[in-house]
Amino acid sequence: MSTEKAQRHNERMKRHKKVVDEKIEQATIEQGVFIVITGNGKGKTTSALGTLLRSLGHGHQCALVQFIKGQWDCGETAFFKNKDTSGVNNLVTYTMDTGFTWNTQDFEKDKQAAEDVWKQALPLLNDPDCKLIVFDEMTYMFKYKYLDIDEVISALKNRPKHQNVIITGRGAPEELIDLADTVSEVRPIKHAFNQGIKAQEGIEW
Ligand code: ATP
Ligand code: MG
Repeated sequence: MSTEKAQRHNERMKRHKKVVDEKIEQATIEQGVFIVITGNGKGKTTSALGTLLRSLGHGHQCALVQFIKGQWDCGETAFFKNKDTSGVNNLVTYTMDTGFTWNTQDFEKDKQAAEDVWKQALPLLNDPDCKLIVFDEMTYMFKYKYLDIDEVISALKNRPKHQNVIITGRGAPEELIDLADTVSEVRPIKHAFNQGIKAQEGIEW
């Protein structure tokens, strides 16, 4: 790199650092965040699980609440279930016990199952010792009218100040987006499935 180029790069980095430093200085509020991971691309659940791992690693009490149980046994569920091998003792998990909702086609049964999981999870939203709750695939519960969005919004608003919550799933409703502090949309640019590559253990589940 020429001296002139290096100098220009250096000045640009200095300006960038100044902007970042100012932003860091302005971010002084200490509170939990509500994160929504939505969109049609691959990476929503795995992103939430990554954050869960991060929080668990710090020894925080966490919860994983899964609204749609897959047809396959997920690797992450198997991992967490076996406490002897995972060594994870600071996580509680609740899973809806029906299969994929769009397979069962039994509205009342699925609604009941969704409500049961929600009722189990509700005390966590009142527990200041619970640092992170992941509600995986929860957006569909609103789409199919299994859960009342107003009730969930109200519980989220009244949760302990330092509690973090993540909701994943496609098509997040506006109410969740409005309330969230961080919203990420995963956009599909390519997916192996569309090139005929079979779903595989360890990647898809
Ligand atoms: P992941 O669990 O891999 O992070 P996700 O939570 O973003 O995926 P979901 O909509 O919950 O995605 O779908 C779960 C399954 O569908 C995964 O096996 C994923 O690989 C697959 N999938 C996600 N997006 C696409 C897509 N655009 N086309 C085809 N399959 C997809
Ligand atoms: Mg998912």
